[in-house]
Amino acid sequence: MRLITHNMLQCHAKGCDPSQSYPLELKEVQLESLDAEYSEDFIRRLIPKLDWNVLVHTAFALGVAELPKELPDVQDEAFLRKVHQVALETRVKEAQMVCNGCGHVYPIKDGVPNMLLQDNEV
Ligand SMILES: [Zn+2]
Repeated sequence: MRLITHNMLQCHAKGCDPSQSYPLELKEVQLESLDAEYSEDFIRRLIPKLDWNVLVHTAFALGVAELPKELPDVQDEAFLRKVHQVALETRVKEAQMVCNGCGHVYPIKDGVPNMLLQDNEV
């Protein structure tokens, strides 16, 4: 699972506190890095859609990269390539994603997040 995906996932369990359902906290993480084709245009369009604070925090917590806390006004190629590396090339292979609102654990196995809930949690 790419970090761009983590940036967009939130808990949908019944009764979960919506103010705490995002972001999901990554625990017991195994990372891998996969090359992805760099497209400056794609990254420039992606950045405004990201929750920047969440990406910065996640990249730092996982030891992937240090991104600037504030989005820079001038986004040069070095910066864009770093975002590319963090958001698209860093993959979570195995992890537990824990919701801070309700404690639900969403597992990631072989790079695939399982966002399914039990019937009584929907
Ligand atoms: Zn939840």
